[in-house]
Formats: sequence, structure tokens, C-alpha cells
Amino acid sequence: MFGNELQGFFMLKGLAISPGYALGKAFCIRHFQLDTVPSVSVAPQALDHEVARFQNALQISRTEILNLLELPHIKSSLEIANIFQAHLTLLDDPDLKKEVEKRIRDRRLNAEAVLSSVIKDYSEFFRKLPDPQFQGKAIDIVDVGQRILRNCEGEAGLQPLADFKEGVIIIAENLTPSEIADFDPRRVRGIAIEEGTPTSHASILARSLSIPALIQVKNLVRSVSRGDLLLIDGITGTLEVNPPAPRVEEFQSRLHRYEASLQTLQANLSQPSVTRDGTPVSLQANIGKLQDVDAVLANHADGIGLYRTEFAYLTRRRFPTEEELVETYSGVVSRVSPREITFRTIDLGGEKLPHLGGEVLEKNPELGWRAIRMALDRPEILRTQVRAILRASQVVPHPRIKILLPMISTLQEYRRCREILAEIQEDLQTQGLGPQVPPPLGIMVEIPSTALMARAFAREVDFFSIGSNDLVQYTLAVDRTNTRVAHLYQPTHPAVLRLLREVAQAGREAGKPVTICGELAGDPRFTGLLLGLGLRQFSMNPASLTRVKQAVREWSCQDAEGLAEPLLACSTAEEVEDLLRQAAPPREHD
Ligand code: PEP
Ligand code: MG
Repeated sequence: MFGNELQGFFMLKGLAISPGYALGKAFCIRHFQLDTVPSVSVAPQALDHEVARFQNALQISRTEILNLLELPHIKSSLEIANIFQAHLTLLDDPDLKKEVEKRIRDRRLNAEAVLSSVIKDYSEFFRKLPDPQFQGKAIDIVDVGQRILRNCEGEAGLQPLADFKEGVIIIAENLTPSEIADFDPRRVRGIAIEEGTPTSHASILARSLSIPALIQVKNLVRSVSRGDLLLIDGITGTLEVNPPAPRVEEFQSRLHRYEASLQTLQANLSQPSVTRDGTPVSLQANIGKLQDVDAVLANHADGIGLYRTEFAYLTRRRFPTEEELVETYSGVVSRVSPREITFRTIDLGGEKLPHLGGEVLEKNPELGWRAIRMALDRPEILRTQVRAILRASQVVPHPRIKILLPMISTLQEYRRCREILAEIQEDLQTQGLGPQVPPPLGIMVEIPSTALMARAFAREVDFFSIGSNDLVQYTLAVDRTNTRVAHLYQPTHPAVLRLLREVAQAGREAGKPVTICGELAGDPRFTGLLLGLGLRQFSMNPASLTRVKQAVREWSCQDAEGLAEPLLACSTAEEVEDLLRQAAPPREHD
């Protein structure tokens, strides 16, 4: 922290993960640790007041959720709307209300302490029930409990987010995807969080909503108060708190210049994606749900290079049915065709799927029973999904769909999936519901051993998609979600570059397409690097397409390829980045 704190002005430093500038008032979101909410004794004559405080918090929470359900981005997503409907049911649950009121009176304690103990007891009770429906309820109770707790504490006249008319900057220790879904994107100008990593889902969501965002901002939560005036510089990673008026003016004019430059980039969107020396580069988009298709089309993506299909499984308290999946997937196919669409089968671990029944807690979930490993163990889940994909492809005359398998580490896994796909295609075809031939089946290359064996895989698979997010994590042995080791998570580490080149070469030799779809693909600073390593197909967050297209058009392939050897010869990520900075063509829009 530095700056003139006497006048209330200071700066904090973080990591910029979604570009842009934002100016707005702080809106702080707190997470309560249910075990550590302080207990305060309440005098007998104040017990009625304490109960009323709790009832008032319930009422505010109810109004907040009803307002949220009216927002267009929530209305248009049945899955998110369902979560909030479940929260409403809990708020109206007479047993929960009675229990809290009774404990306040019996124990003569403050509403927050009692409420947190009730939430804890209820969620543990539901978590232990064998019926998966009830286990899902445990998650809802904790979620809605946080909201009621916030509203209990907020009694001293704090405004809810909806009352900030002018747009806010969200301040939090961390955010879950459902909390981000909670925001009205029209009211949120920026996000700053104390923890987080560039590839965590909150970061990915911030980028997809084009909200300037910083993560890993040290001392954030204890130094920023609600209503503070904040400036976020999503390029350099600084957060200015209560800056003086001349600084605000200067910042505002920079913000306007930036927005104008975005409009120029936007106007260039219909330009072809070719390098200066005429090599075409395919720029596709990553999506997670049907609503993301708007951004895909608005940003002129060549197709969908990665459809992360987990959303439908995470937002329901049970597995989605084949019919439900067909409905969602058909929506994507009919809107995106005739462009290509790559469906990735679910990439989840047991810990994220309480509806599998039983506790599936693992010591190292990232190295455990997840993605294709789980899907091959529970083939009915995979079959339902693949059937839905093939059926949905039939809503257009000439579908261009592909199926992508996550976390493949052996050829046997790939071969088994190929057999399953062939069986399903034949079965559907005889019923007149599926395509004449199975769609191309490819693999994510996100495990170092798979990258090293790319030539062997290339003989059998139809295409590769490099998942750099996980490839970096597994190559460098750095948990991609762990803030304490985030400095070691280096996508430009020479070891990673060598693996990227291995896959690009194997694909080229075998005539098998190679896409890169991790976050690295969407960062224009690294476009020259990826071109130099031989990659020609990128898939990214739709919001990154404008900048990456600009970078593609600025680089020449020949220059980029000339850099490959010197880059691969570097000893550290810092050396790689220095070299790239020196070699990059001049940029206007950083
Ligand atoms: C990756 O690992 O790079 C990837 C694209 O997949 P996810 O981020 O969903 O793990
Ligand atoms: Mg991955």
C-alpha cells in the first residue's frame, strides 16, 4: 500500500486478469466463516428486537432474490433462475425460521451467531442424507445463509447492490461463480478480489462479461470500505482508493479514450483474421452456456472451439436428462451453425457431483477421479451426453460438430470413447435420430505425458485441442487455483513452450488440426509466441477476440516463426517474455 493515506487516498496492487478501466463506488461482499461468527449475549428485554432483526434480514433477502429473478441475464438462464428459486423456498421454510427464533430466545444470543449455527446444523444434516436431492439442498442452505447473514449485519442503513444506480466495483475476498451470476452486469463496472487465480472460474467469468478485474490484491478487504471511490486499471493491475479530483478527471479521460479505441477495434471485427504475410488464423470462442452465444456472434468468432458443458451439471441438483441436454445443445447448434461447434464432454470430479451419491472426497482431486476417468467409470453419464449431442446436431441440415474428450492420458481411454461414440451413432441412426457418420472425435492435450506422446495419439485421434490451463498446472506442478503458489504458475515457462511445439508439430505431420483453447490463447501478448510455435487455431473467451485478431493482423508468421528457436532456448519465463516484448510489433490498444 502506498500514497497519501491522511487524505484517504492510497493505491493497492493486484494482477489484472480482465482488461479495461473502471471507476465506481466500492461494494464489499463478505463471506462469513460459519464457525467464527462472534456470539454476543442479548439481554432478555432485547430479545424481541433481535428476533425482529432476523425477520427483517429474511425479508430483505427475499426482496433481493425477487429482484434478481427479474434481471434479464437471470431470466434468460433457467439454470441460474432455478438456484434462486430454491433459495426462495428455503427463505420461506417455516421450520428454519422457527428454529432460529427459538434458539435466539433460548440461548439469548445475537441473530448472526444463532443463524450461523442453524445453517451449519441444517447443512450437515442434509449432507449426510443418502438422497442426492437433499445433498444439493445443503449447498443451497449455505449459499442463502450467507445472504441472510449479510443482511443481518447490514442493518445500519447499508444499501443493497440494486440501490447503487451509478455502477459499482465489487470488492471481495473471493467470489464463487454463483455470486457473479448474482450481479447485474449493467451495475458492475469492475471487480477486485483478494484471492483468485487467472484461470479460476470467477476470472474466466469476469473476462467473458468484459468486466475489468483484478485478483490477488493484498490487504484489499481490510483497507477498502463500502462506498469508497475506486479506480481500477485493468491493464497495469492498480487499484486507487479515494483519489483526488484531478486524478479522477485524468482517469476519466483515459477511460473514454480506451472505450473509443475499443469501438475502433469493434469496427475492425469484420476484417479477416490473417497475419501481415497472409496466413489465415482461425479464431474461435470458448463458451459455457447457451447465453454465451450472443457474445460469440457479436465478436465474429469463426465457431465454438470449446463448449465447456459442465454448467448444466453444476447448476442442477441432479443429473440433467437427455431431453434437457438436447434442448440446450439444439439452441447452440441452431444459433451457431453453419460455424463449427466443439462439444467437450463433462470435465468434473467427484467432489463437484454430490448427486453421484456418497462422499467422493479425494486428497488430490486434480490428479484423481475426474473428467474422462469419471465418465468411463460411469458410462451412462457419458452416453446420455453423447446421445444428446448427436441428436441436437440434427436440428440443422449440415451440422459441423466435433466431440472433445477432456484429460485423456492413455490411448485406451480414447479407443473406448471411440467405441461408445460408434455404438451410439449406429443406434441413433437406426432410429432416424442421429447423423450418418460419427462426428470427429478429438482429445484435450492437457497432461504433459499426452503432449509428449502426441505423435502416437496423432495416428488415431481426429484432432487435438491444447488445454494450456491444465497443461501449465501439471507441467510445473502448480495448483492453478492456489494463490500461494500463483507466482510459479507460468504459462510462458520454456518447458510449457516445448510441449506446445511438440503437439503443434505432431498435428502438422499427421494432418490433424490442433487448436489451443486455454487462457493463453486469449492473451494478445502471446499471439506471436503461439504463431511462432506453429499454432494456427485459437479458441478463447469471446471478449478477447477483438484484441487477439488485432494482434494476428499485426504479426507476420515469418517473424513469429523466426522467434521460435530463440524462445525455446530461453531458460526462464521472464526471458521468454522479455524477448517477446522486444520483438512484438508496436501495439496501439494495450
Ligand atoms: C484448459 O485446461 O486449458 C482448458 C481449456 O480447460 P479448463 O479450463 O476447463 O480446465
Ligand atoms: Mg482443462
